[in-house]
Amino acid sequence: MLQGRYPDQVELQIPLHHMPKDFFIPDLYKSEIIKTVKNARQILDPRKKDRAPAVLDLGPVRFLIPRHFGFCYGVENAIDIAYRTVEEHPGKNIYLLSEMIHNPTVNKDLEARGVRFLFETDGTERIAIESLSPEDIVIVPAFGTTLEIQKKLERQGINPYQYDTTCPFVVKVWKRGKQLGTKGYSLVIHGKYQHEETRATFSHSAQEAPCVVVLNPEEARILADIILEKRPRSDFQKYFGMKCTDGFDPVGDMKRIGVINQTTMLATETREVMQILRDAVEEKYGIAAGKTGSGSVGTRTAASDKESASDTESGSTADPGSNAIPEGNPGVEMHFADTTDTLCYATNENQSATYGLMEERADIALVVGGYNSSNTMHLVELLEERFPTYHVRDASEIKSRSEIHHFNQWNKQVERTRNWMPKAAEPVTIAITSGASCPDALVDEVLLKVASYFEGCRPVDEALKPFREEESASAQSGTTMK
Ligand code: SF4
Repeated sequence: MLQGRYPDQVELQIPLHHMPKDFFIPDLYKSEIIKTVKNARQILDPRKKDRAPAVLDLGPVRFLIPRHFGFCYGVENAIDIAYRTVEEHPGKNIYLLSEMIHNPTVNKDLEARGVRFLFETDGTERIAIESLSPEDIVIVPAFGTTLEIQKKLERQGINPYQYDTTCPFVVKVWKRGKQLGTKGYSLVIHGKYQHEETRATFSHSAQEAPCVVVLNPEEARILADIILEKRPRSDFQKYFGMKCTDGFDPVGDMKRIGVINQTTMLATETREVMQILRDAVEEKYGIAAGKTGSGSVGTRTAASDKESASDTESGSTADPGSNAIPEGNPGVEMHFADTTDTLCYATNENQSATYGLMEERADIALVVGGYNSSNTMHLVELLEERFPTYHVRDASEIKSRSEIHHFNQWNKQVERTRNWMPKAAEPVTIAITSGASCPDALVDEVLLKVASYFEGCRPVDEALKPFREEESASAQSGTTMK
């Protein structure tokens, strides 16, 4: 069963013209251990063809370190802009719309530097925008924001684009939504409706087309049944009434469907959602599966691998050519836009590297990241299929060798588990990773704390030696790390 979800479908994807870029990252987020391992891997395998994890062998405990994890392009970009803004404007009121990224360490540090948050992550107001003045600075977080909030800021004389850290991969989704809307498709947004990014995407997309948000394949099946009139229309109100555009008609507005998604969803689920809806329109319009359309949904093609944050500017969807639906059986592409997902490169790479981790043998897995971080929770969800997995915010959650506090995303509680460390014969093997908003420094701290519970560990410096040798061999031969 596990094998079925190990994807060839999720391939490492590197939008080269967006990466790498030299961002300013404060020293407190930098790591010695993880950075050394990552640098060596980057030298050995710059195209990320090998998704197997690296092994940091400390003797009685070994850590499996995945091929890709930690700060993504959008997070580094946001940190760069936010910290520079704080440094360059002493004495000014500086606000963030909400958490800049879903990491408590980063957000707390910004607050300590005087930055204040206008909203909670769920959208609850902390400080009224109406109380701001034109001299105040408002930083838009990496998730982007809604058109409504942009307009409110403008009414206060504040330019919402001046300190805008919206990730280009989120903007890419908005462009895809616009492109589909222009062609007459209604939009199904695969995402978490309460998440800032999905709220922003919904707001922008609602300008272009009727929109509805689905959380997962289960909800997609409910929507498919409503489209097929196997369920009453009243079920639409029941399940989607709070997360669709005003006046949404679940039958009339679902004649042409395009799917976009929150950038950090589980890739396999997004593809499942697409397939369910595609199957529904094939059934609804009597289209023989496989005989029409321009390719199967769910298979990442060579062309799609070249997608970048700007691909939708040139148009990458199958173009049905016209907004009018011809009579007869015009083919699935008239009813379902055969697009690829709009997951970002970091989500794809992190999930692919996690599958690489899952192919190994480990006693437990540790995932470091904020408890409201969507991409982190998806990594946990994957790893839970394979290992006893603990999601910790930082090293302070590890209380002792026999007690750990960790987040359970299914009941949304921080739980305390005793005897979490396996009693397996040494060496104990621990898979360790983190979300896209987690500084590598926090992973170092977790790793060192866990290692401190084992007697006779070799020094970390010694364990890092092979990685350092790789770095220096490359420096001597003039190999570029980019
Ligand atoms: S997870 Fe992806 S979309 Fe989100 S900030 Fe990072 S690169 Fe951008």
